[in-house]
Amino acid sequence: MLQSLFDKKNNHRCTDFIWSGPCSAESYEQVFETASQLKQKGIETIRAGIWKPRTRPNSFEGIGYPALDWMADIKNKLSVEITTEVASAKHVEACLKSGFDALWIGARTTVNPFLVQEIAESLRGVDIPVFIKNPIHAEIGLWIGAIERFEQMNISKIGNIFRGFHTMNSAPYRNQPVWKLALEVKRQFPGIPMICDPSHIAGKRNLLKGISQTAIDLNFDGLMLESHINPDSALSDSLQQLTPANLFTMLEELVQKKDHFINPEIVQEFQKVRVDIDQLDKKLLEIIENRAELIDKIGDWKDANQVQIFQLERYQQILESRKKYAKDLQYLPQDFVQELFELIHKFSIAQQLGKNQ
Ligand code: PEP
Ligand code: MN
Repeated sequence: MLQSLFDKKNNHRCTDFIWSGPCSAESYEQVFETASQLKQKGIETIRAGIWKPRTRPNSFEGIGYPALDWMADIKNKLSVEITTEVASAKHVEACLKSGFDALWIGARTTVNPFLVQEIAESLRGVDIPVFIKNPIHAEIGLWIGAIERFEQMNISKIGNIFRGFHTMNSAPYRNQPVWKLALEVKRQFPGIPMICDPSHIAGKRNLLKGISQTAIDLNFDGLMLESHINPDSALSDSLQQLTPANLFTMLEELVQKKDHFINPEIVQEFQKVRVDIDQLDKKLLEIIENRAELIDKIGDWKDANQVQIFQLERYQQILESRKKYAKDLQYLPQDFVQELFELIHKFSIAQQLGKNQ
C-alpha cells in the first residue's frame, strides 16, 4: 500500500490510501486488536506511536523499545505494514532492525534542524518511505528545510503529512488547518505525496469528517487517522481517536470526487467560463498596472519634495475604505480584501523605494 504512493504513474485518490492505528502503542493486545480490525476492512498500513513527545512531563511517554517487538510480531501475524514516529538516530536504528515499513518525524522534530539532520543521516541509503510532518507553527521554511535534508541523503521515498499548526487561537480545531501552506508545499514539491492527518488537526472526533472531506476536495494523496479499540481509555489523544468500526462508518460517508468532468456538454461550458476567467485576470493585471503607473507618479512627487514614502494614515485609510466598498459585494470576504490590499500596498511601497536606489 505504502509503495503505491510513490508510484509516479499512479493518479492518487485520497481515499485509496488510509493509514490508521492508535496514537500510541499501549499494550500488545490493544495494537493487535486495532490492527486486526483495520486489516479486516482493507487498511494495511498501521501506525502506532512508540516514543511519544509529550508537551508536559509525567504524561504517558510511550512504551519505548519493548513495543518494537509487538509491532514486528503484528506485522508477521497480520501481514500489515508497520510504521511509527522517530525522533532520533537511535530510534531509526531500532526500527530498521525490527522491520518497520515506513517512519515519520513528528511536528516537534521538524522544527529542529539538528535532529532532522541526524535522522536524515541515519537513513542514508535506506530504501523505506520517510514522512515529514509539518512543523508545529505556521511557517513552512522548516518543513521545506527538512525535505531538503532528506533529499540530500538521497532518500528516494519522501512523503509529507499535514497535521495543522499550533496558533494562538486554533478553535474549533486543536491545530489550525492553514490549507494554503500545505498546498504551497505541494506546489513546490509536486512529486512528494501529501497526506492529511485530520486527527491532530481536529483534536475531537466530531470534526474529523469535515477535515477529511476537505483534504479529499483539495486532492491530498491519503489520510492518516488515529484509531483505538477503546478510545475513551486511550493513554494519549483519547478525544480524537475513533474505534475501527466508527472509522469505517466515517470513511463510507466521505465522497471521493473525480478530478475532471465527464459530461461533454459541461466540459464545453466549463471551458468557456475558464476563458472568461482568463480574460478577467488579464484585465485585473492591466488595472493593477494602471495603478502602478499612478504610484510611479506620486513616488516621483514624494521624491522631488522629500516627502516620506510610507504614510501610515493613508495605509489605514486604504485598508478601511476598500473593506467598506467590499461590504456591498457578494463574494469578497473582509479578510480577503484586507490581505489583497496589504499585498498591493506592500508592492507600492517597494515600487517607490526602488526609485530611491
Ligand atoms: C502523532 O502522530 O501521534 C503525533 C504526536 O503527531 P504530531 O507530531 O503531528 O503532533
Ligand atoms: Mn496522537
